[in-house]
Amino acid sequence: MTRSFFTFLTAIFSIGLLAQNKTDYWQQHVDYTMNVDMDVKTFQYTGTQTLVYTNNSPDELKRVYFHLYFNAFQPGSEMDIRLQTIADPDNRMTTPDKKSRIALLTDSEIGYLHATSLTQDGSKVSFSEEGTVLVVDLAKPIAAGTKSTFNMEFEGQVPLQIRRSGRNSEEGVALSMSQWYPKLAEYDFEGWHADPYIAREFQGVWGDFDVKLTIDKTYTVGGTGYLQNPNEIGHGYETPGTKIKKQKGKTLTWHFKAPMVHDFMWAADPEYIHDIQQVPNGPVLHFLYKDDAKLVENWKKLQPKTIEAMQFFSKNIGTYPYDQYSVIQGGDGGMEYAMSTLITGNRKFGSLVGVMVHEMAHSWFQHILATNEAKHEWMDEGFTSFISKLCMSEIMDYEKENPFESTYKGYRNLALSGKEQPQGTYADRYALNFAYGISAYSKGSIFLSQLGYVIGQDKLMETIRQYYEEFKFKHPIPNDIKRVAEKVSGFELDWYLTDWTQTTNTIDYGIKKVAVSENNTKVTLERIGLMPMPLDILVVYNDGTRETFYAPLRMMRGEKENPYDGVKRTVINDWAWAYPSYDFEINKPMSSIQAIVIDPSQLMADVNLENNIWQAE
Ligand SMILES: [Zn+2]
Repeated sequence: MTRSFFTFLTAIFSIGLLAQNKTDYWQQHVDYTMNVDMDVKTFQYTGTQTLVYTNNSPDELKRVYFHLYFNAFQPGSEMDIRLQTIADPDNRMTTPDKKSRIALLTDSEIGYLHATSLTQDGSKVSFSEEGTVLVVDLAKPIAAGTKSTFNMEFEGQVPLQIRRSGRNSEEGVALSMSQWYPKLAEYDFEGWHADPYIAREFQGVWGDFDVKLTIDKTYTVGGTGYLQNPNEIGHGYETPGTKIKKQKGKTLTWHFKAPMVHDFMWAADPEYIHDIQQVPNGPVLHFLYKDDAKLVENWKKLQPKTIEAMQFFSKNIGTYPYDQYSVIQGGDGGMEYAMSTLITGNRKFGSLVGVMVHEMAHSWFQHILATNEAKHEWMDEGFTSFISKLCMSEIMDYEKENPFESTYKGYRNLALSGKEQPQGTYADRYALNFAYGISAYSKGSIFLSQLGYVIGQDKLMETIRQYYEEFKFKHPIPNDIKRVAEKVSGFELDWYLTDWTQTTNTIDYGIKKVAVSENNTKVTLERIGLMPMPLDILVVYNDGTRETFYAPLRMMRGEKENPYDGVKRTVINDWAWAYPSYDFEINKPMSSIQAIVIDPSQLMADVNLENNIWQAE
């Protein structure tokens, strides 16, 4: 543990205390100590786990639950059956003729994770497996405000099918080890979250991890946590210039510590190249990727981009609190973990940077803020998508006026398809993966970009920084981001949160009529969709000059600043939502007007853009 981490812990502690006084916020705490032996030939492993669990809740607990994620990778599991019954299964997990690949796994290829013994404070407890969840009836209830220690022995097998984790990936990475250990489920103000592993992740309890991993000594390991014995291990972790003593035996024991994380991932391969970069005034970056001539050039070019991304997010969201971040080739696409990511590596350069940027942005939204992703998936995937698009525009010099164009297109597609479900839908309960994907990623991203339209871009960026500062390490819920935006902007925004995230109401405003009104021009607008919005209206004249009109939404109780520097803006009457139409006058003759446009920024997710433009004939 370094000095800067102490400062960081002190900061969390004091902020935590302040918040507790104000809101009675509490959260559980876990400290894991694990010893794991991995057999790289059979892909089986055994381990011991000592878990000190602190019950900070006001409730007495009679049961606890652990996730045993690897049990999902067995024929007949909920994950398997879901693959067989959903209309659009994930093609990484199906054969070319759309059959579940989990259904085809043999005994030596399935995944499993079983507790073989378990005690609570020295007493035996009864436990049973229900698919991917271990149900534990406690020997003695855990009283509010007390600790209890669980000692478990477990055994596991790494599945041949890669979904986030697994063995022998398509790119030849031996071990992608996420969701691999018995992981205590979260208990919070809503109660237990012992969610079965069907398709989606992620909600965890923060705490300190101390993990010793014994594995074949030819394997290079990376992942969550700071390596405690680098000069014994070598593999590029040693202090430069250190001579590594030759170890007897076939294995090495890697010792990692990770403070205040809610998950612990590792990956290992005998052919990893290991590069290290230092972010100025920031963390150390580790890169682990296969020694493959096709990859090396892109993975070298990726490294300065990773530094830039770390700096971009630290500036625009808030300081990254750990001293290390690792980008590791593995898994089946891209997936975020504490202090690290697993990404596939055989990609074009832009795609490689894109996936790294997206997964790194999750460090803030999934690992430090950590909304419950099973319930509020849009706050994690959506906010991550939003900020990573901004980052890509900056670090890749993409010449695009609106980096969110494809995001809005995707959302309109879903909204008009009739397949949309409200964003409050539990992540595994969407009828279609298509609907989940657009709702979580695109509609979730638009929550922020459109909020920028509603309250102003500067206020949006201030909201994001303030939200992070106030809610880091606190599992925020939807109302929290709304309240921060309200405090930053001074507007009332409950309508925005409820219509956008709890309903499938759409936005559709249109220009109904433009008419001569003596020497002026009368414009009639209409509201067709159910969701309310304030409107920016651009008028372009024949001589090329332009001006805007702003119709505030009455229930918002305020007006944003003029978003177009140097363009004259007139604030017209409030539009109260219930009125389906609205008139205003332009003090110029109709013959001088070339075009009128609702929301020239296109950041308002109007589902029908055709009626947003009026052009002189
Ligand atoms: Zn993501």
